[in-house]
Amino acid sequence: MVTEKSAIFIIFGGSGDLAHRKLYPSLFRLYKSGFLKDHFAVIGTARRPWSDDYFRETVITSLKDYFDDSESVMKEFAQHFFYQSHDVNDSEHYIALKNLAAKLDDQFSAGHNRVYYMAIAPRFFGTVAEHINSEGLKTDGYNRLVIEKPFGRDLDSACELNGNISKAFPEDDIYRIDHYLGKKMVQVIPDLRAHNPKFEKALNNKYVSNIQVTLAEKIGVEDRGGYYETAGVLRDMVQNHIMQIIGATAMDEPEATDAKIIHKHKCDLFASLKEMTPEQVDQDFVRGQYDTDNLGEENAYRQEDKVAEDSNIETFTAGKLEFDSDRWSGVPFYVRSGKRMPDKTSRIDIVFNEKVDELGIKPNTVVTLLIERKDGHSILINGIDYKESAQDFIKFPEEKEFDNAREAYESLIIDILSGDRVHFTLWDELRSTWKYIDTIEERWASQTPEFPNYISGTMGPDSAEMLLERDGNSWVWDD
Ligand code: NAD
Repeated sequence: MVTEKSAIFIIFGGSGDLAHRKLYPSLFRLYKSGFLKDHFAVIGTARRPWSDDYFRETVITSLKDYFDDSESVMKEFAQHFFYQSHDVNDSEHYIALKNLAAKLDDQFSAGHNRVYYMAIAPRFFGTVAEHINSEGLKTDGYNRLVIEKPFGRDLDSACELNGNISKAFPEDDIYRIDHYLGKKMVQVIPDLRAHNPKFEKALNNKYVSNIQVTLAEKIGVEDRGGYYETAGVLRDMVQNHIMQIIGATAMDEPEATDAKIIHKHKCDLFASLKEMTPEQVDQDFVRGQYDTDNLGEENAYRQEDKVAEDSNIETFTAGKLEFDSDRWSGVPFYVRSGKRMPDKTSRIDIVFNEKVDELGIKPNTVVTLLIERKDGHSILINGIDYKESAQDFIKFPEEKEFDNAREAYESLIIDILSGDRVHFTLWDELRSTWKYIDTIEERWASQTPEFPNYISGTMGPDSAEMLLERDGNSWVWDD
């Protein structure tokens, strides 16, 4: 059932790419489905001196890229949009913002609720949060702060950022976005486990040979070379998205789908990540950077816009994670992410061993959870759609099937408006995952890789295959 929500959204970075490509289309979907109706307004802020009318035009223009609704519906929606020119360091501007939000709250009866959305460069997150607090923008309704990634670039910077925002907002009001947690398959994993007792019973070191998580992209860095030079795939994909996917798959079975319980189980899992020595990093993690393709038509990474000619930033990584826990000790978790791979895919492959026969599951069965539903498939058993497989130990609870699944940002905005933090990341989770990633980054920083080392359109460097061969395993997803 749809319950209308009331809030004033203040979007810092309201003229930017994320706002136009993700946030406004998602808000429009929520408007069309009735979650947002009469009692909301959106204030876009950025430095440029735009009028409300001009801002509304930009919103409508971006909606037209995604929807074929009539212009009158889009205009009606855009009447809820207002623009305030804003410099993040200017205290006066926060007062103007506060007054505009109060005025719009009266006009739309928005229940004194505020969503402060940081669609702005990460270096401003702390400043904006502090000013929201010090200039008295908070109301007697709810005041929720939404933070985009990246949340720091190592443990120290993440601690500093967290220190700054937590001076201004209590943890319970902070919504750290990891948009993979907005994806239907990732959200449904705890339900899949609860609904399929045999599958749940098999998810441990007695029955699992290994677990593989692959997030592969076909494209290169496109126009994001500047950002990528500060990150690399380990920070951009593994520290956050891959870790959260592993969290949902491998945490202890939650007693309920309650945010506190799920977060506790994830925190416990990440705290049990097995620390690596520098020598283990050399053995268990490989990195790569794409070269041109076989025809020499595509740019090598080092030829991309805003990328240094001698850049040592990795566009591919594969590695083996292990956990020190009763449940997972001895089971390798192989992770892999890269750009310019043969295809775009996001998947979890759970490879069972022979003993799983005891539970009535065929020995060596592989269950694949497709995070991006592909060709209508979502779960595969030994490569066959689960509905057509002779084995039936895993299936969706009827109402959780994928038809009409919400887009990730739409789903996350509903959660923010509902005060449900289950699909957001906690600081304790980030602390453990950054600590782990720092060990790898520090080792890599002390060595010079031989880049580029894989051809665009391939599965990455050969070392990624050898990583598994060494253990007698192989990647389930192969070209
Ligand atoms: P962008 O450069 O397109 O937009 C940045 C916005 O910030 C603009 O509206 C700009 O006017 C505003 N801004 C810049 N300096 C300002 C200042 N001093 N005072 C006030 N406003 C200022 O960036 P983006 O791609 O939209 O990314 C925004 C945030 O979202 C970043 O933290 C980014 O890491 C994160 N993010 C973006 C994407 C994406 O797909 N674009 C995906 C994930 C995370």
